[in-house]
Amino acid sequence: MAPVTISLPDGRGVVLRGFIDRVDRAEGAFRVIDYKSGRDSKLDACAANLLDGGRAVQLALYARAIRDQERTEGRPVPVVSALYWFCTTRGNFRQRQMVAGDDTDAALDAVVAGIDAGVRAGCFPQVPGVYQDFFGSWENCSFCDYDGLCPAGRDSLYEAKSGDRELAPYRALQADQPGDEP
Ligand code: SF4
Repeated sequence: MAPVTISLPDGRGVVLRGFIDRVDRAEGAFRVIDYKSGRDSKLDACAANLLDGGRAVQLALYARAIRDQERTEGRPVPVVSALYWFCTTRGNFRQRQMVAGDDTDAALDAVVAGIDAGVRAGCFPQVPGVYQDFFGSWENCSFCDYDGLCPAGRDSLYEAKSGDRELAPYRALQADQPGDEP
């Protein structure tokens, strides 16, 4: 697919490239599938929760690439069905689906603008999430390259800093996540 350009409020653009595992197309309808080999991460991505507070932008981005392609080529802009397919016993063969349209595009724009604002403000908080005894790690750290560098008390550090003014861009992304503060 062609790269996706997300326009920012100040006129700059963020260009994102990638590969989609699978795209099904039939009579102008599209379905995007992203295969996951790991455990079901219970991602709940929709426009209403700002794509899980910016943690689940992948499907929205894939759908955007298809919608932009159809728009560029002068065809009607489709609503796209997109799903994560946890296709192993580890993931219990679960599917988590979203339907991506104008509201999803708007949510993606808002998330990217929020992340851009945070990066430009130097907002890089450690956000480990909940400690999971079963896995012996924090929910956000298992696959992070910095797991061996971040301190053992990273959750306490986050709690101590979570109200800081400098973390406002991050908190704005979490504003629609009731009960989901890391
Ligand atoms: S290891 Fe550190 S940087 Fe990585 S997710 Fe955990 S807290 Fe964040």
